[in-house]
Amino acid sequence: MKQKRAIVIGSGIAGIAASIRLVRAGFYVTVIEKNDFTGGKLSELKGGGYRFDAGPSLFTLPYLVDELFTLCGENPRDHFQYTRLETICRYFYPDGTTLDSFADQERFAAELETKTGEPAENTRQYLKTCARKWELTADVFVFSDFSDPKTFLSRAFLKGLANVGELHVLETMHEYHVRAFQTPHAIQLFNRYATYNGSDPYRVPATLSVIPHVEYGLGAFIPHGGLYTIVESLTALARRHGVVFKTGEKVTSITRKGNFITGVETERGSHEADIVLANADAVSVYRHLLRDASSEKKWAAQERSTSALVFNWGMKAEFPELDLHNIFFSEDYKAEFDALFKAKTLHDDPTVYVFVSSKYVSSDAPPGCENWFTMINVPENVGQDWDEIVSRARDLILKKLSRKLGKNLTDLIEIEMVEDPRWIEQRTSSVNGSLYGPAGNSRWAAFMRHANRSSRYRGLYFCGGSVHPGGGIPMCLSSAKITANLIQKHESR
Ligand code: FAD
Repeated sequence: MKQKRAIVIGSGIAGIAASIRLVRAGFYVTVIEKNDFTGGKLSELKGGGYRFDAGPSLFTLPYLVDELFTLCGENPRDHFQYTRLETICRYFYPDGTTLDSFADQERFAAELETKTGEPAENTRQYLKTCARKWELTADVFVFSDFSDPKTFLSRAFLKGLANVGELHVLETMHEYHVRAFQTPHAIQLFNRYATYNGSDPYRVPATLSVIPHVEYGLGAFIPHGGLYTIVESLTALARRHGVVFKTGEKVTSITRKGNFITGVETERGSHEADIVLANADAVSVYRHLLRDASSEKKWAAQERSTSALVFNWGMKAEFPELDLHNIFFSEDYKAEFDALFKAKTLHDDPTVYVFVSSKYVSSDAPPGCENWFTMINVPENVGQDWDEIVSRARDLILKKLSRKLGKNLTDLIEIEMVEDPRWIEQRTSSVNGSLYGPAGNSRWAAFMRHANRSSRYRGLYFCGGSVHPGGGIPMCLSSAKITANLIQKHESR
């Protein structure tokens, strides 16, 4: 039988993972990527002796990466290494409280009790409910195909339905945390997990308090060599098994006869294919590649997740006060999320996240120096004056961190590379610079995401953060698996 040709548009983490699965399933696979590097949002920046992971900094569910090596008959440890973090994150509060969240749940509960007065039993009980939510939802919402009616008749779905009271779908994450905890510190700390998919803890259903389980139950990890080694090792794996990468080539349209997909056109020519798998943002696919205005309008109408403003700073000093992941909370978290989602502007006291990979990867900064990936959540790009916002945010962040760390940080910045929503959108085609596609704020959001198989165009599939099951490395890897399985099911004949 003739080998079927699959074209993957985009080499984000989901596009690379899907390409590996498809090549192993016997397809002839070409990945076409507009950038001259692979990885999309999962990328890196280098300069002045520093290296920065430009996108994700937190790595969870590493077995989803390992699985791809195993699928290819290779030992993941020969190509990709990582360490489980004992200290997950260091938190700095406006009132001067500083605490660490530990992978060891007992130690973490004790730390919260000692530093904030939150009874350890509350943390223990809460983390148990997070684990139970994972048990009741993950198989269906993270790992299953939503276009298959069997998903909703499965034992896993029916188990979730029978225990729906434990999922707290009718209250918001914040409301649930107010019931679960006594101290504002614990409430704010756990509310933060809504930002892991770019959502608002004051609106997102409390079901999303499943997210802490991923960190405290299943673990947070740091890849040796930094996050970008995920992309490097998987791109090399894909190449070893026959995937062809065409980088620096932008797809300009998806070609079709009627509703049957026939291939793609790029800036350099046309490529025929039996299957096209879009890893690019679904809205940008309808807008630019299919010019399908009605589908674009439908999918663009969904509220988008937040974007990010990142200052990558090469700091000519070392800061023992900092750990790998650090959070400097704002005073008024509710006002911060109102600014993000309602006013769509910069809050005047943003929560600041500082990721210092050189704490683990010494080659990421020169001796005696540190590489700071300094990020705040910002709204999606709806035409705000970003030059003004970037300049104001820089000032606010430097004042806040200088005050907290007792040093004039401005003088210590050796190099600076800035990422804002316009930059993220231009670099990855992510609509409005959103990090995770549509936001998860509504109770129905998980059911409303774009499907992995087009119901309109025969031979067109989707994977990645803008579609089911969602954004973030693990969800994208799951998306790749669901989509590759669908392609095998529908196209292998
Ligand atoms: P994307 O990364 O969106 O890549 C899509 C690719 O398609 C791009 O390479 C783009 O160039 C290409 N493309 C688009 N259009 C075309 C075209 N017409 N022709 C050719 N190529 C095209 N996730 C976590 O798990 N943990 C984190 O800590 C975390 N933090 C983040 C911080 C930041 C600043 C950012 C930006 C993201 C973060 N994320 C995090 C989210 C995570 O990076 C994304 O969800 C994930 O990487 C998206 O992967 P994807 O497969 O959807 O593809």
